[in-house]
Amino acid sequence: MIESDYLIVGAGACGLAFADTLLSEAPNATITIVDERAAPGGHWVDAYDFVKTHQPASFYGVNSTQLGHDRIDETGLNAGFYDLASGAEIRTYFADVLERVLLASGRVRYIPESHYDFERRVLVTPEGETALRARKVVDTTYTAGPIPATHTPSYAIAPGVRHAPVNVLAGSEGEAAGYVIIGAGKTGADACVYLIQRGVDPDAITWIMPQDVWFYDRALYQPGDEHLDHLFELTAVQMEIAATAQTADEVLMRLEQSGTLMRIDPCVAPGAYRCATITRAEMGVMKRVKNIARLGRVQRIERDCIVLDRGEIPTGPDVLHVDCSAKAVRPRPPLPVFDGERITVQFVRTCQPPFCAAFIAMVEAHFEDEAKKNVLCAPVPSPERAIDWLSMTLQTAINTFAWMQEPVLANWLARSRLNGQRGLMRPSAALTPVQAEARKRMRAVTPAAVANLRKLVAESV
Ligand SMILES: Cc1cc2nc3c(=O)[nH]c(=O)nc-3n(C[C@H](O)[C@H](O)[C@H](O)COP(=O)(O)OP(=O)(O)OC[C@H]3O[C@@H](n4cnc5c(N)ncnc54)[C@H](O)[C@@H]3O)c2cc1C
Repeated sequence: MIESDYLIVGAGACGLAFADTLLSEAPNATITIVDERAAPGGHWVDAYDFVKTHQPASFYGVNSTQLGHDRIDETGLNAGFYDLASGAEIRTYFADVLERVLLASGRVRYIPESHYDFERRVLVTPEGETALRARKVVDTTYTAGPIPATHTPSYAIAPGVRHAPVNVLAGSEGEAAGYVIIGAGKTGADACVYLIQRGVDPDAITWIMPQDVWFYDRALYQPGDEHLDHLFELTAVQMEIAATAQTADEVLMRLEQSGTLMRIDPCVAPGAYRCATITRAEMGVMKRVKNIARLGRVQRIERDCIVLDRGEIPTGPDVLHVDCSAKAVRPRPPLPVFDGERITVQFVRTCQPPFCAAFIAMVEAHFEDEAKKNVLCAPVPSPERAIDWLSMTLQTAINTFAWMQEPVLANWLARSRLNGQRGLMRPSAALTPVQAEARKRMRAVTPAAVANLRKLVAESV
């Protein structure tokens, strides 16, 4: 039997971020981390070669350890913005964090290649089954989605059709006369951008877009002082829009006009918002793809045609069909984060999973009362539909207000490297005139924004 104070199921970014913060905030806690994979890092272990974080590396990973170089890219599609981390960098980073921070503490045990059976409370390993006992079980698998490399597409594929996960694009198997990119999320966008950057003619790409997607401008997720005036100003504008718009659609359209959200085609209203974060330069490349099929989801791929919900398009033997339809975050009904001996890690702020996991660990370490803990960690809906920009922003605003009433949390938020909103929490004396003015507007309008978002979200159900 293996015993520890905490059993963390999943050694992905969220499991490791939770462990790292718990280790520093709960000085005697012992932790067992288990994962089915052979290496730490979760989905990053099997990610495609050209994958990168879509937000700056400065905000990603675990709280104790810097990721990336904290410098501004001078070239490429991210020029002018803080560096992103590649999949290879992230894998090295998590292996290092595991060895140097977690295992070196002497309080953490890591068991790879092991499946935790939540029902039977046993760990299934290649050697057999082991009972695990822990005061708390931390489930980081609840919203974790399937990954492109191992995901099973929902559509049928006829024999002889060239079809592969996005991972093949980086190798020689990825050479083709034409490409069909299946999926309009961040992976599909990455695939189109990667191919065009590699010299593929945009007209050789067909992009299957069951629904269009709102993208978030990366200019608004930047750590440096030089971006802070813009961040303050746009956050104030977002709250003003949230307070005054008459409909959910009006919120989204005005967010686009303000420079917060982007879409591929100004004539098509996106149905989805999944926190995908890109630069305007990347959007410029994506817009070069003109063959966009908006005929619903793929039902099956035949040798000479693709059958979709609302029609067919031609294809052929020289065409590589690239599956980008796996969703990184699986939308699930919200659960109480703290429920007896179970902690279910979920979003408690919009679009920053490792931050959320570290924050939940912080609350676990510093608060006793379960009801209070659940107020501080009220789940923010997972990003899925366009309306979720509103519901996520609403719950994030409510949570942030509750956090700022607790000095231990407010202090941590002001210091945490994972906190993508850290700049907004600066003391008033450190603000530029632009920032001070924007903060005044934000404070004045937030109660009305919360009330209006609540109404618009309720109307959309
Ligand atoms: C291309 C891409 C870029 C991204 N960029 C960013 C970014 O810049 N910033 C950001 O905040 N987020 C980003 N994300 C979101 C990202 O998904 C999260 O940041 C994070 O990696 C999710 O980690 P996780 O631990 O929740 O899930 P996972 O990485 O899926 O880890 C869950 C782990 O649990 C294990 N597991 C599942 N069930 C069991 C079981 N029963 N027993 C044992 N082990 C089990 C799995 O093997 C897996 O390793 C990005 C996602 C993608 C796909």
